[in-house]
Amino acid sequence: MAVPRSSHSAPTASLSESRAALLKRAARAAMDYLEHEDTRSVAPSPKAVNALSVFRGPLPPGPTSAETVLHLLDEYGSPATIAKTAGRFFGFVNGGCLPAALAASWLVSTWDQNAAFFVQSPTAITLEEIALEWVREMLGLPVGTGGALVTGATMANFSALAAARHTICERAGWDVEADGLFGAPPITVVVGEEAHASVHKALSLLGMGRNRVVRMPVDGQGRMRANALPHLDDRTILCLQAGNVNTGAFDPAAAIIPAARAAGTWIHVDGAFGLWAGVSPEYHRWTKGFEQADSWATDAHKWPNIGYDCGIALVRDPSTLQAAMSMQASYLALGDHREPADYNPELSRRARGVELWAGLRSLGRSGMAEIVERTSEHARRFAAGLKAAGYEILNDVVINQVLVSFGTPEKTLATIARLQAEGTCWCGSTVWQGKTAMRISVSSWATTKEDVDRSLAAMLKAAQG
Ligand SMILES: *Cc1c(COP(=O)(O)O)cnc(C)c1O
Repeated sequence: MAVPRSSHSAPTASLSESRAALLKRAARAAMDYLEHEDTRSVAPSPKAVNALSVFRGPLPPGPTSAETVLHLLDEYGSPATIAKTAGRFFGFVNGGCLPAALAASWLVSTWDQNAAFFVQSPTAITLEEIALEWVREMLGLPVGTGGALVTGATMANFSALAAARHTICERAGWDVEADGLFGAPPITVVVGEEAHASVHKALSLLGMGRNRVVRMPVDGQGRMRANALPHLDDRTILCLQAGNVNTGAFDPAAAIIPAARAAGTWIHVDGAFGLWAGVSPEYHRWTKGFEQADSWATDAHKWPNIGYDCGIALVRDPSTLQAAMSMQASYLALGDHREPADYNPELSRRARGVELWAGLRSLGRSGMAEIVERTSEHARRFAAGLKAAGYEILNDVVINQVLVSFGTPEKTLATIARLQAEGTCWCGSTVWQGKTAMRISVSSWATTKEDVDRSLAAMLKAAQG
């Protein structure tokens, strides 16, 4: 970019010296940021957010020194971030970033690898392949399952459902990649009433229509009712959910999948965070049966705490994903390796497999199980504390999600607003089956019991007005 260079093509000694000084300064800024994580408000102050206006203004006509650029970012950018690293951000389902994954991301940014093809980065492609296999193993999926690393579960749902679309069209003698969906034999898609919005978005991107779905009724936890299964055949895609974004509940896979498999239906699982519960012997019962599906979407940036962004699409028969995603061009000469570009919607992409490998290597199986168990225990502690104070818990706290009502919708929303402004922690709102609630998602490796107790005290204070 606008790094001033001499007329030589190679960096001069002084340029590499100033680059090293800049990187050290960036590292120091990052460490300062982490050092102050515990004393600042989780949500930035309105003053810090207003100060972001310094970034506005017309495109500079000429260069700015990299030191000044970094200074601006740290001085005005850092204070207006959401403080996620301290372990008291409970909004959405956001994990933290494991130290090994963070360190790997510093290094991988320095390497600047393009993870499209092996020839562009043997390291990135090798580590991605290993990490994908470790994920398969951790989730207990069939040997031979393959997939792609994408930005998130939205794109993982998209990618897996593209493989499903390919397979069903091919069965009907239709080449959907070549000829599109105009005039194609119809595909029926069955989803639960509480399917995540990203499944609908993926279906819309794939030309299968966000509203052209058969919706299955659900129970009070958002689980599909197994006895309400519609007609299923081999022109059908059934989308199950492992871990509802509000309640954490799991569709009854063991009760549904055998009949769906027998009918030749393609079974897809949106398991953005919930699938990881199966790593823990204590929580494995929730994910039992999901391994019999044809495809799975999950996120490593949620429960595994790999840092953004890292979604994973997995397909029992990876050749179907390859058929949906590969492209040809004369300059794309391929070797004998697994080429990510053959399985991904993208061509050029960042080497997120390196961070995934680093995080999983640092955790091991027991480390991942421990995150699941610890965060779920924290969730139960929140629920027990809120219930003891007289507030209604709307869900069965089966994993790391808690829904709490503080009374009327107005009271609940006012409590959330006060809590966010007070700054000890951060929770968002939701409407669960008609009831306004505060949603607590404990997904960060960094959350301690003390964080839970401090946050619980802040919640109870906010609820009292
Ligand atoms: C978070 C989530 C998604 C979307 O994942 P992104 O990584 O934000 O794209 C999809 N489904 C479920 C169940 C989720 O929890």
